[in-house]
Amino acid sequence: MGKAGFGLAVSCAVVSCTIAAILVGRRVKSRRKWNRVVGVLRELEEGCSTSIGRLRQVVDAMAVEMHAGLASEGGSKLKMLLTFVDNLPNGNEKGTYYALDLGGTNFRVLRVQLGGKNSLILGHEVERQPIPEHLMTSTSEDLFDFIASTLEKFVEKEGNGYIVPLDRRRELGFTFSFPVKQTSVSSGILIKWTKGFSIEDMVGKDVAECLQQAISRRGLDMRVVALVNDTVGTLALGHYHDEDTVAAVIIGTGTNACYVERTDAIIKSQGLLTKSGGMVVNMEWGNFWSTHLPRTSYDTDLDADSPNPNDQGFEKMISGMYLGDIVRRVMLRMAEESDIFGDATCRLSEPFILRTPLMAAIHEDESPDLREVSRILQETLELTNVPLKVRKVIVRVCDIVTRRAARLAAAGIVGILKKIGRDGSGGVMSVRTKTGEPSSRMRRTVVAIEGGLYASYSMFREYLSEAVAEILGEEVAPYVVLKILEDGSGIGAALLAASHSSSSVGSVTLL
Ligand code: ADP
Ligand code: MG
Repeated sequence: MGKAGFGLAVSCAVVSCTIAAILVGRRVKSRRKWNRVVGVLRELEEGCSTSIGRLRQVVDAMAVEMHAGLASEGGSKLKMLLTFVDNLPNGNEKGTYYALDLGGTNFRVLRVQLGGKNSLILGHEVERQPIPEHLMTSTSEDLFDFIASTLEKFVEKEGNGYIVPLDRRRELGFTFSFPVKQTSVSSGILIKWTKGFSIEDMVGKDVAECLQQAISRRGLDMRVVALVNDTVGTLALGHYHDEDTVAAVIIGTGTNACYVERTDAIIKSQGLLTKSGGMVVNMEWGNFWSTHLPRTSYDTDLDADSPNPNDQGFEKMISGMYLGDIVRRVMLRMAEESDIFGDATCRLSEPFILRTPLMAAIHEDESPDLREVSRILQETLELTNVPLKVRKVIVRVCDIVTRRAARLAAAGIVGILKKIGRDGSGGVMSVRTKTGEPSSRMRRTVVAIEGGLYASYSMFREYLSEAVAEILGEEVAPYVVLKILEDGSGIGAALLAASHSSSSVGSVTLL
């Protein structure tokens, strides 16, 4: 080999070595970055752990806080609000009634026709529409004028057997899904806004009166006869269909629960007497807090960035308004730790860009190549060509966040059952009949559940019922039935309007 040939060979070797070194360096770097992504995932998994031991602690904490909230005003983060509903519809209600259901995202107008004894609900019509976003932070007059005008247009379409007799005023039940201090079954004062609403002039005002005034402004002849929380409406419908229903839970934009309590257990309202000896209590459980809740830095940041920091801590871990944003925050952290999404990650910094229904669609994508995940990442977050292994990580993040939410809601439900002695902790087969046969002392217990998140997200439902069964144990679990109720909060409000109507034919007691 000549000198020139030798030089060329050496140069080639040097170049190859350099390329190899660069490649190895890149691989090492990319493995390091990938390891960081895996690290974020592991940390999330650990932070969101809901072992059975932890869930039992949450159950106990919920029951303890319920006691505290019933003992004194401000005694707990759980407000445990009186609803003045001491009897629930029983099937005798007859006639056409209206309802308005103002949730966190959706607004519904309903007309329900009740057939009286044994014929139950003959029919119902619902018109749904999203609440225009600007009205969530406008004035109370703007919000209620919008509601009343929608109602007016709906009433104009009355027909098909839904006619209200001319000698009777139309009556309406108003479902208002925010914390209200009730002063009677048909009046109550707004305590605070939640779920992104903020109309300052409304706080401290009578909600039913605001609606009644807006109805009058439009010249509509209709009376608000019941002001109910969405949980209470759902309980009313649940009990109407199945009298073993003792509690109701909402899992939609926000989350909350109510249940039937004995009046003598409501210590803070001594002297409260009802014919039935019971009253429905609106827990406002979205504000529940316990050090046993598995909280991560994503939750702390989400809370700090929210318009209501240190408020609604349980809700922020469970409900539809927030789950998608927790996932977004984890993805953003992964992007900051590595370059798994390439350079185009700016949309990930936009709060609430990943809505919970999209997160559910990512989670429930069953295609082998996660095609739906690709589509959502591209269309919503402008993330293109995200590799399959990264898409799998995102699906796993959704799974962790939803599983935690559903299992915490399950622990909340068992907490209520524990408070009212329906969790089977006293034993299931401990009563003997006259013939000496062991007999069950555990009563069938139904919990009605409503809300867009629960109704539309099957993985959430599965995780929730699995956790309820796991906490209760196999002996007790068959006695507890979780029943999904579509439009329960609205139809239930119409039922309560009927049972509190001036032409009411009476109803049975609760307990
Ligand atoms: P509101 O809380 O206004 O009464 P809904 O009970 O209908 O309304 O709940 C709406 C919420 O449910 C949405 O804000 C969303 O977070 C959640 N949601 C709706 N559809 C889905 C879905 N397919 N998957 C997961 N969550 C959903
Ligand atoms: Mg609702």
